[in-house]
Amino acid sequence: MQDKPVALVTGANKGIGLQIAKDLAAHGLTVLVGSRNFARGQEAAKTIDGDARALQLDVTDQASIAAAAARIRNELGRLDVLVNNAGISHAGEPGRSLEEMRKSRRPSVASLDEVRAVWETNVFGVIAVTQAMLPLLREAPAARIVNVSSSVGSLTLNARPTHPYHPMFSVVYPASKTALNAITLAFTIELESTNIKVNAACPGHTATDLNNFAGPRTVEQAAREPVRLALLGPDGPTGTFSNEDGPLPW
Ligand code: NAP
Repeated sequence: MQDKPVALVTGANKGIGLQIAKDLAAHGLTVLVGSRNFARGQEAAKTIDGDARALQLDVTDQASIAAAAARIRNELGRLDVLVNNAGISHAGEPGRSLEEMRKSRRPSVASLDEVRAVWETNVFGVIAVTQAMLPLLREAPAARIVNVSSSVGSLTLNARPTHPYHPMFSVVYPASKTALNAITLAFTIELESTNIKVNAACPGHTATDLNNFAGPRTVEQAAREPVRLALLGPDGPTGTFSNEDGPLPW
């Protein structure tokens, strides 16, 4: 088993996940750059200063998840931090205009195939990866799980008619983040008698492929809250949902 703590970031070959991987490596952790395409993970790992290694991991593929967990155990013997970052915002036809996308996501007409595809990554993928990594995380002295969620999944905020995202709340992406928040709480409750802390972070609206680089925030800003939660000390909280400005309502 190696002495240095080990972090796994899913979907770390680009975007916010890559920045989280860079920041954790800068803090001295060995970082596993989870990537469903191994070559893309290798390219990303090369851009990281510090100890960063690509790890093939498709969060929707049980065989890939099991192989990744086995590789971590065999090659490193420990896992201290799991950042469930991989996510998709839609799974429909490419080339649709924003207006077409908005219309197609209305609960009354949303394609169940698209709902299932988004939830497969954003929700079931997180359960599957967390379950597979928990035996290693339980062996770590003070493991941390961070789920990269979004305030667009906050039921409290979206129930307010004055909230800017109120009209956009949909069963595709926003509700997948609501479910992710529920899953965060469920794992927190099961693990509250252990040294493992489980928290959800919203990175804020950030310019990445997820939104055609429309968000105003940089990946450097977006990574701050997930990284803070990944590096929480023994007195840090568990079972929280927050962004850089503080707690968010569930
Ligand atoms: P991004 O640049 O599109 O990155 C998403 C990452 O997830 C990519 O590495 C992608 O890999 C990976 N991924 C997708 N499906 C996967 C799968 N089945 N298995 C493994 N990896 C998979 O988007 P991002 O903005 O950085 O998103 C990161 C997280 O932040 C997501 O959970 C997102 O919901 C959340 N978030 C983003 C924003 C925002 O404004 N950007 C706001 C709130 C929350 P490929 O390169 O192979 O596609």
